[in-house]
Amino acid sequence: MKKHLLLFVVTAFGLTLQAQKKFAQLDQELPTPNEYRTASGAPGHHYYQQKADYVMKLSIDDATQKLYGWERITYTNNSPDQLDYLWLQLDQNVFSVNSDSKLIEVEKMEDFKSLGDIRKKQFYYDGGFKIDEIKTASGQKMTYSINKTMLRIDLDQPLLPKASVTFQVKWWYNINDRMAVGGRSGYEYFEKDQNYLYTIAQFFPRMCVYNDVTGWQNKQFLGRGEFTLPFGDYDVQITVPADHIVGATGVCQNYDAILSAEQKKRLEQAKKADSPVIIVTQDEAIKAENAKEKATKTWHYKASNVRDFAFASSRKFIWDAQSVTVGKNKVLCMSYYPKEGNPLWERYSTKLVAHTIKTYSKYTIDYPYPVAISVHSKWIGMEYPMICFNGGRPEADGTYSEQEKYGMWGVIIHEVGHNFFPMIINSDERQWTWMDEGLNTFVQYLTEQEWERGYPSRRGPAYLIADYMRGDKKTISPIMTNSESIFQFGNNAYGKPATALNILRETIMGRELFDYAFKVYCERWKFKHPTPADFFRTMEDASAVDLDWFWRGWFYGTDNVDISIDEVKWFQLNTQNPEVEKAFKKEQDAAKDKFIGDERNKTSIDKTVNEKDASIDDFYAKRNLYTTDALERKEYEEFISKTDIKDLELLNGNKQFYEISFSNVGGLVMPLILEFTFADGSKEVVRVPAEIWRMYEDKVSKVFIFDKAVSSIRLDPFLETADTDLRNNSWPQEAQPTRYQLFKQQQAKENPMQRQKRVDELKKN
Ligand SMILES: [Zn+2]
Repeated sequence: MKKHLLLFVVTAFGLTLQAQKKFAQLDQELPTPNEYRTASGAPGHHYYQQKADYVMKLSIDDATQKLYGWERITYTNNSPDQLDYLWLQLDQNVFSVNSDSKLIEVEKMEDFKSLGDIRKKQFYYDGGFKIDEIKTASGQKMTYSINKTMLRIDLDQPLLPKASVTFQVKWWYNINDRMAVGGRSGYEYFEKDQNYLYTIAQFFPRMCVYNDVTGWQNKQFLGRGEFTLPFGDYDVQITVPADHIVGATGVCQNYDAILSAEQKKRLEQAKKADSPVIIVTQDEAIKAENAKEKATKTWHYKASNVRDFAFASSRKFIWDAQSVTVGKNKVLCMSYYPKEGNPLWERYSTKLVAHTIKTYSKYTIDYPYPVAISVHSKWIGMEYPMICFNGGRPEADGTYSEQEKYGMWGVIIHEVGHNFFPMIINSDERQWTWMDEGLNTFVQYLTEQEWERGYPSRRGPAYLIADYMRGDKKTISPIMTNSESIFQFGNNAYGKPATALNILRETIMGRELFDYAFKVYCERWKFKHPTPADFFRTMEDASAVDLDWFWRGWFYGTDNVDISIDEVKWFQLNTQNPEVEKAFKKEQDAAKDKFIGDERNKTSIDKTVNEKDASIDDFYAKRNLYTTDALERKEYEEFISKTDIKDLELLNGNKQFYEISFSNVGGLVMPLILEFTFADGSKEVVRVPAEIWRMYEDKVSKVFIFDKAVSSIRLDPFLETADTDLRNNSWPQEAQPTRYQLFKQQQAKENPMQRQKRVDELKKN
């Protein structure tokens, strides 16, 4: 039998075994699967959810900015449990004078930077719900109790499984001046023409969710953790000044009674158009601004299978619309904006709505609702079913900065995207912000990239999260933190989860497996209430990729990615051929560094004794170590005769071996993505899965074998792992020049469009 050559013995640093935690399954962290939610992440065979149907009559008093409402709620108990009381949310109570949300704010004197800040803190406004009465369907008074932002209605008869209860609530409240007290809902007052623009949401007592996860989700509304609401059908009548234009969740039932013949014609045109058609023009809106009608009109809306209802109303509204088809659904995309939003709004809003509906449908589920609306509302971005309120206002002269443009694009894509998360894939926002914001920001990124090539997305690409993850750990919370207790809200609940999903898609799972699994999650949980475990489990279940280590590191931890190339050792095989090896030795010896004394002696000593006296040099002095003798040749021939031909080929193949050691400095395990550049200039990328760290979480080594010599190595060359320190990612270490600026540039006071106006002026003169 021929002998196989032993090449190397690679030892993994001889590390002692440590507790391997990073790849442990999430058994303790995730809830036990049950009949409501399966271990595969799907709704279980006994999954249930409650239903809340609303009939509402609303009216805005434009003279006093009050909203009056009456609602009849029919609540259906699909749970297996008997309910003795019902919980409703009173979101407006965050504006009540003694609201907790103000009291629990941590403050320092330095937060008061201006008189405006003080005014805002001391602002008195009689906000919050005024509940007039709560009655049964037949008109009997019901007992109820208000605990801050929560309302409990006590039932005379317990609500049995499969039964429903109908009751009525009458209420009103003072609408908040959004510019003065903030808020997601409220009014904006336009001093110039003395008109109001109302964006009204979270405006009626809304049923809480009751389910297998939280029981009643009646955690108080403190202002940040948003909502979770049961699905239901809405029938809503909104009475407003007769010259107001209303946009709302659902489909308007009585355009005939409201719009002019000309406007109805334009609306019909828009339903067939694939680019925006103006239904109410700027001229018509300006006319209404000046006329200020006193009479009222009632708009009637219906919406089915939605978790909430919101609307906007103003005589300032310009209104345009176009149609978009997704799957079998035709969706009417619409925008409502005051003239102050132009030229940005007329040019972009509805086109962005249509693009968002189309792109999200591709990556998630087909948009199921008949309309999708974007309303211009200064500063904010806030989402409700089928309708959202978005900022992005140009200067009074009609110019705008590039930042304003991208801000407007981004917020419209984001808020329209929220139709999918959490309006349809209805996660519990009061508990988990990332489940809607993170997932939504991820698809927002995909949508932005399909809107404009190289779109400068704020969030999504891995390298954009590195600064945050490198930061002080005292100011970083795990993604799996309750909404109210999160440090650095935007980075934590929007940026990091969106980035994590991007990394799964581009690096860990690959686009095909990721896109499939993500769609499975969306299909499974559309019109249902998913939890984090349902998401984590589905992504694994549909892809056969064990992601527990990834969820553990990215969602339950605060470690960052920082992998370093510590050392590179280069090996070639000894061929055993004396001719080859001696020539190699000769070359190596010749290339060795020369000692300075020897160099100088070459000229300073004319002749040494042995150079003058031939009798000095003996056998050793005359021996040539670089030549091969007959005996060596004979031994090599014997070696050849005993060695397998394949082994000989390998020995003489001139293979280059690189043993590279890596450290996990940041703690978050990730794949090793290595780009090797060879002496001849060619490149090769090798991807090593994160599981290389499964035994040794701090240090690993790996041997790479090539036909050519390597001249340089880069780790994470495509910026896809969010590595927070790129200085230890290269071999040999690279120094990049920085342009040191002596003359600091001054902050521009005008936007580039305004500057261009001055350039044009200059040309004229
Ligand atoms: Zn959002």
